Amino acid sequence: MNASGPICEHCGELYEGRAYRVTSEEDGILLLDMIVCHSCSIEARRLGLDTRKHDIRHIAFN
Ligand SMILES: [Zn+2]
Repeated sequence: MNASGPICEHCGELYEGRAYRVTSEEDGILLLDMIVCHSCSIEARRLGLDTRKHDIRHIAFN
């Protein structure tokens, strides 16, 4: 088993718990699509980006 968790695609930190998917779309074009940690998701939401909970198991087995 790999003990390390997923790495945030924004800050590069290992994190545990809930992952968040941050996307930004403009005129139907996806400008941004990354899986981030909780603190980055808060920051993203503050910037007005679309954030939603992401099932971490999808990343672990990718
Ligand atoms: Zn982060």
